[in-house]
Amino acid sequence: MRNNLTCLICNLLLAMGMTASAQALELCGTLKQGELISGHAFNATEVTVDGKSYTVDADGRFLFSLARDAAKNVKLSIVYQDGTIENYVLPVAENTWDIQRIEGVEQRKVTPAKADEAEILREQKDVRAALTSINPDIQDWQKGFELPVEGVISGNFGNQRIFNGVPKNPHSGTDIAAAEGTPVKAAGDGVVLLSGGNYFYSGNMVILDHGYGLQTIYMHLKEAKVAKGDHVKKGDIIGLVGKTGRVTGPHLHWGASLNNVRFRPHALLEMDLKQCRQYLPDNKERL
Ligand SMILES: [Zn+2]
Repeated sequence: MRNNLTCLICNLLLAMGMTASAQALELCGTLKQGELISGHAFNATEVTVDGKSYTVDADGRFLFSLARDAAKNVKLSIVYQDGTIENYVLPVAENTWDIQRIEGVEQRKVTPAKADEAEILREQKDVRAALTSINPDIQDWQKGFELPVEGVISGNFGNQRIFNGVPKNPHSGTDIAAAEGTPVKAAGDGVVLLSGGNYFYSGNMVILDHGYGLQTIYMHLKEAKVAKGDHVKKGDIIGLVGKTGRVTGPHLHWGASLNNVRFRPHALLEMDLKQCRQYLPDNKERL
């Protein structure tokens, strides 16, 4: 009966000259500050969130992330093959962030000397180049993710951090404490964008590209075990836990970034478990 009814509606739509493209938007994940959202809209060709463009695959799948300090609403626009544009205003739930006081940090890493400026600039430039890289030909992000190292979480994503009493930027990833030398695994299949570096803050790091502007970041390594351009599989050893850069002890700083916006990395592990729901557009227009 239901099939007959569906068919009847299809035929009616066709008779009215409308395509059965059923432009429904599905979003999976929590619309909350610091989260990763996966979306699906049949026949979508372009997706923008607050004017920023996100890559869409041939089946209409895409990702976007909500920044730690995202506003109360974001505007999502979808362009479809037939030239229709749908606009959505999505509410973003506020997150609460802990204050984390960290003592015993080498003072020079808290208040750098003039002589450190060039090194800090080198780090910023290299990291920015990696995290602004958008490769639409890699779809490794669709293969899923796993935890890069087992250990106690010693610092959450988003913490407001105070080093030796000095307020600093919010924490851009999750710290996982583990013994020096513990193998660090690739959280997912990807291509190495950056390896090593011995940077002022990050120490030795690896950045993996999973495609569509999604990268994972591994900092403070004792040693990186991969080279730029290497293809790695989920679970491959990419480095060893260390205490290089701005640290007080050995741990892995695990970060995740989409289009150069950091989000809570554990959201990657929850991609298959996320609640999905459909949304109706607030308005439609034509190209
Ligand atoms: Zn960290």
